[in-house]
Amino acid sequence: MLAAVTLLIGAATNAAPAQSSWSFVILGDTRDGNNTSNGISPNLHALAEKIASLDPRPKLVIVAGDMCNGNCLNTNSPKYPPGGNFTNAAAKAIYAHFFANWKEAMEPVFNYSTSNGIPIYTVRGNHESNDTGQAPIEVLKEAYQEAFSSYVPTNGPYNGLTNDQRGFSWAFTSNNVTFVAADQYFEFDPTYVNGTTPWSGYHSLAQAWVTRQLRDATSPYKILISHEPIFQTVGNGPTAEEQENEVAQHFFGTNIAAMQTRSNFWNDLGDAGTQMYLCGHLHLETVAATTNNHGHTIIQLLAGNGGAPAQEFLNNPEPGVTTFYNNGNILVTNGGNVSVQAAYGFALATVTDEQMTIQYYSLNPTNTSPTDRWIVAAYATQIASAKARPAISLPFDPRAGTFSYTRSDPAGTGLSYQVEKASCLSEIAPGLSDWKVDAAATQTVTAITNNVQTVQVTLSGAKPLSAEDLRSHRGPVGEFNSKKHAPGKAWVPPPSALPGHGAHL
Ligand SMILES: [Zn+2]
Repeated sequence: MLAAVTLLIGAATNAAPAQSSWSFVILGDTRDGNNTSNGISPNLHALAEKIASLDPRPKLVIVAGDMCNGNCLNTNSPKYPPGGNFTNAAAKAIYAHFFANWKEAMEPVFNYSTSNGIPIYTVRGNHESNDTGQAPIEVLKEAYQEAFSSYVPTNGPYNGLTNDQRGFSWAFTSNNVTFVAADQYFEFDPTYVNGTTPWSGYHSLAQAWVTRQLRDATSPYKILISHEPIFQTVGNGPTAEEQENEVAQHFFGTNIAAMQTRSNFWNDLGDAGTQMYLCGHLHLETVAATTNNHGHTIIQLLAGNGGAPAQEFLNNPEPGVTTFYNNGNILVTNGGNVSVQAAYGFALATVTDEQMTIQYYSLNPTNTSPTDRWIVAAYATQIASAKARPAISLPFDPRAGTFSYTRSDPAGTGLSYQVEKASCLSEIAPGLSDWKVDAAATQTVTAITNNVQTVQVTLSGAKPLSAEDLRSHRGPVGEFNSKKHAPGKAWVPPPSALPGHGAHL
């Protein structure tokens, strides 16, 4: 008898159909400085024009907060009234004006008047709540809600009238990517206002809701979006704002209890199959990763280079964090003046069935040409699909009936794996037939590296197999693409590019 084995991969729920390549844009921190009159970065419109000109056209844009400088109650704001006498209505009108300016600058991407263009999904930053870490500014929240909440799914958690996150936190799946956004400015703890960190009044998000959205999704790519970083990649600098860098990258805080909360959070994300945490808050761009206690590596993409007053990159990741990229914000000296040479921009994620590739676009800070100002970084982030076809590593040992393969942790993907065998009728006509699941085959995880498991398979039946069984041959690749699979289960053929896509004996 000649036989072949391959793997059946099944999902508990309907698998997404095959998708052709598509893309989305990641943008963050498009606000202006505190001395602003219009709230938005003067660079935002240039970024919007570039996003709109991308070919192929992105399907959607994700914005990770701090869209406008909402703090017109700051004494160094030109909008600050004589004597500081605001009415709520007057303050709200200023905020609404800022958000209207943002929409106008983004008009090349999406026309909010006609609802034409590339849909934009936003989440709040501290500048859409209260950047000082004090109690939320209610009229700022209202202005944001009126401007943007109708453009996101209203499926956020509802925890009563004072914690109604619908229109603020949201979740949706587009093609093969699940996006979940967690607003960080609902659960304000006033006892922390006079604590040790400037944002310490905010240190929680709707973790149970977030985890449930991610865990229940069957997409091969899962991304969580929020504003403030979870892990530190950037060190403190000399300016007042930069002196707060390290605490500003610890959303949950820095004490022992906060570290435990953070670990639980990162473990939950990884267990749910989340590959990336997208944030902003610092005004530069970094890509880093850290591995949680369960062996899951999650990328933190800090995309805060959307035009806000730039910060230099000071390489100081906390222990366990590996930094892959920064966008090159550096200090430059011009005469007696020291300033940050900024590379403002955005990230572009291109998604296929197998891989998500994220590229980093920047306005070239040293080239003022009106036609050629954009550069794309040589570095790109690669995220493997959780449903990527397993790699079967030969040699197959037919005497022992064993082979091994690698897969993403099923706990994070919702996938199950079965071994299937088929007979080969003859070597003259080497088609395979009579595929059957070898339910008695054993699968043992022998190693875990990050989220990737190595699995040793032993086929059922008496060993060693007979000499007759050991004759090997390799049938045409196409035969693997036409196999039946169990009802309700997805069958993913092993990739034809891999040698040993199926092991024959
Ligand atoms: Zn911020």
